[in-house]
Amino acid sequence: MSYLPNPERYSTMRYRRSGNSGLALPELSLGLWHNFGETDSFAVARDMIRFAFDAGITHFDLANNYGPPLGSAEETFGRILSKDFMGLRHEMVISSKAGHLMWPGPYGDGGSRKYLIESCNESLKRMGLEYVDIFYTHRYDPNTPLEETASALETIYKQGKALYIGISKYPAFAADVVLNYLKEAGVPVIIHQLKYSMLVREPEKEILGYNKEHGLGTITFSPLAQGLLTDKYISGIPQDSRAAKAEGFLKVEEVAPKMNEVMALREIAIKREQTIAQMAISWQLHDDRVTSVLIGASRVQQIAENLKALENTSFSQEEIDAINRITLE
Ligand code: NDP
Repeated sequence: MSYLPNPERYSTMRYRRSGNSGLALPELSLGLWHNFGETDSFAVARDMIRFAFDAGITHFDLANNYGPPLGSAEETFGRILSKDFMGLRHEMVISSKAGHLMWPGPYGDGGSRKYLIESCNESLKRMGLEYVDIFYTHRYDPNTPLEETASALETIYKQGKALYIGISKYPAFAADVVLNYLKEAGVPVIIHQLKYSMLVREPEKEILGYNKEHGLGTITFSPLAQGLLTDKYISGIPQDSRAAKAEGFLKVEEVAPKMNEVMALREIAIKREQTIAQMAISWQLHDDRVTSVLIGASRVQQIAENLKALENTSFSQEEIDAINRITLE
């Protein structure tokens, strides 16, 4: 059955401009790292994209290597776009990236001009798109001159294959080089993708402030620590969870050491009348340096639960202090 988007899709979602740019992103974005590969259910993947879009989630984050196998999440997404979203491309912000291992040999990994340009072309083909909205350098590559990576991003932008450029997981010194180069070249770098959650506080030391100071938006990935910051693992490891799946990036041995913190956070969440997942998302949005919280999901119900986080994003100082005592001390 053909898809008719919800006419009310913009009535509840809030949007934040990414850094100093004009591009507004939804407070919650959806990433396709897991659960959109060839081995996953196409019907579930399609339902999740439709459900998200119906709720005002306009931003979908991909990368060349999402799957498994590598590239298959972009193929799945391309199929969904062609079935359901052909007349709606202009309402969507689609991103992709290159930087991690994608194909064998010396040109399928890192930050070289060869890799980034070839990979961007391949990503566009897999998704059936003429351009992505944001193209990212997926990681800092110490083996490639930063000017070379930046020049590849300039080419991609100037060829019209990306409307904006992003960086992902860059240390400040490397971000400086790329930002300066692309500023000179008149290329808009508007966003920095960072791993950030109540359990991963590293970005607070420097890079969140750096992004703000340099007019970059921040989009936070793994805000639920891949599912640890939910109710899911409290009584064990469910069969259908990321930790239980061989191809999942969350390892079984990472679960138990975090459960004391998760149980303590749950007490605060319950008092706020939120689930742990909702509090983990709200807590990020409480910080105006965060442009968008980039979640993953394996089913529609998770997106529905997580969206409710947007209903309460204010925290008392007591709550903030209590969260810090649990996660920082
Ligand atoms: P999350 O921390 O949001 O983890 C998502 C997982 O948590 C889901 O797949 C699901 O796992 C579980 N989950 C989500 N909501 C709930 C809920 N309400 N109740 C119970 N379980 C829930 O984010 P991801 O780690 O998936 O990362 C999000 C996105 O960030 C990626 O898709 C990708 O786009 C981007 N990313 C970017 C990186 C980069 O290098 N730039 C690196 C990693 C991610 P389950 O399968 O167990 O149900």
